[in-house]
Amino acid sequence: MAGETILVVEDSALNRKLVETVLLPHGYRLLTAMDGEEAIAIATRERPDLILMDLQLPKVSGYDAIRALKSQPETADIPIAALTARAMDYERQEALALGCVDYITKPINTRTFPDQVRRCLDARNSEPDAQ
Ligand code: MN
Repeated sequence: MAGETILVVEDSALNRKLVETVLLPHGYRLLTAMDGEEAIAIATRERPDLILMDLQLPKVSGYDAIRALKSQPETADIPIAALTARAMDYERQEALALGCVDYITKPINTRTFPDQVRRCLDARNSEPDAQ
C-alpha cells in the first residue's frame, strides 16, 4: 500500500536528503522535522503512519521525543523506528524498551532501507487493533 505518510526526524540536512531520495520513489508522503520539539508538534498534528526518529537531536532528544509521543494517546500508537549513527547495544535496548518497532543504524543502506521501512509499516498493519 503506497501513499502512507512518513515523518522523517533528522537534524542533518544531508542525512534527511538521503532518506528522502531513497523513499520518495516508493510513493510515500514525506514530512520532515529537524529537532525533537518539531517532531512532537508535527506528529501530533499530522498523525503519520510511521516516524523515523534520529536519536541525537537538538532541543529535545530523540529519546525524550519518543517518550512524549508514546505518553499522549493521540500519538501513542504511531510506530517509531529509531535511526542512529551510534550502534551501541544499550542504545538499541533503550530504543526498543521505549517502544520503537525497529532500530536502524546510519549510514542507511540505501539498498535495504526501503524494505526495512516497509516492514515497519506492515508490522503496524498486522496488529488487529492498529489504525
Ligand atoms: Mn542527529
